[in-house]
Amino acid sequence: MNEFDLIDKYFTRPPEKALLGVGDDCALLESNKGMHQCITSDMLVEGRHFLSTVDPYRLGVKSLAVNLSDLAACGATPSAFTLSLSLPQVDPHWLELFSSGIWDTALLFGMDLVGGDTTRGPLCISITAIGEVPPGDVLLRSGALEGDDIYISGTLGDAALALAVFRGFVSVDAQSFERIRTRLEQPTPRVGLGVALRGVANACIDISDGLIGDLNHILERSGVGATLGTEWINNSEAISIDMQQQSFNKRLDYVLSGGDDYELLFTASRDAREEVRFASEQSRTPVTLIGQITREKGLKVFDLRRELMQRRFTSFDHFQTHSTYD
Ligand SMILES: [Mg+2]
Repeated sequence: MNEFDLIDKYFTRPPEKALLGVGDDCALLESNKGMHQCITSDMLVEGRHFLSTVDPYRLGVKSLAVNLSDLAACGATPSAFTLSLSLPQVDPHWLELFSSGIWDTALLFGMDLVGGDTTRGPLCISITAIGEVPPGDVLLRSGALEGDDIYISGTLGDAALALAVFRGFVSVDAQSFERIRTRLEQPTPRVGLGVALRGVANACIDISDGLIGDLNHILERSGVGATLGTEWINNSEAISIDMQQQSFNKRLDYVLSGGDDYELLFTASRDAREEVRFASEQSRTPVTLIGQITREKGLKVFDLRRELMQRRFTSFDHFQTHSTYD
């Protein structure tokens, strides 16, 4: 199978929204009048972002989901994406499953695959996703204001716990493992919530590298500080699952600084609590109030007794850590 056959067989379908999809030198998108385009890219490298044993279908889902999560963080409606794929060999079984994961996710979120590239090389998936947002409604990291409430969607830490199980650091029962590995391998991008938060949230980011690290991005960009409580952490499987040989502190690390959750972290005025509740209902996405934005810079985390925690939390950094998926 040559490159063009491969693209034809696995990665070409007539576009739903794009004027021109795969097959020419460029794709053609029609932009809705007056809308702003949001563009984001994410690259997934074997051993760095995923385990070599991962199910190819799930890998297809995740590759697109992590990009959708970035669009969600900006409040954008997804429209199209390009896919660049480096493959060690042409394996029809793998390609069938991987492309199904891509197509199913694209269909679910109304996206056209409009271009990309394929080459032989180490397994690497690079996607650029495009979405639209009305001018003035884009959610950014820089909008947090003193006194804002801080919220997260869903629960945190489950993906990091699943990775720890895969790596043999900890074991959990089979049923729990199925649930948490799905969080790791097929994250749910919060696109509906992002759209519902237009005009409601003041700042937003998706949590890919851990709550503390990603919250710090909001704080830095917005020039503010924050206080976080921890009474909400019991929602997470990472805290509630029965696990042997895991200290509470280690569990807390999964929740506060574990990566790969792809939940939204956002701030909104105290006066907007009703609107936040409505956005959550409308998008059928649970959200939890976890803290407040403060004028004073820095991040303070309080434990269950409302005492200031003194420990340092890390966040995932691709250039400062060894591969997490080895
Ligand atoms: Mg992001």
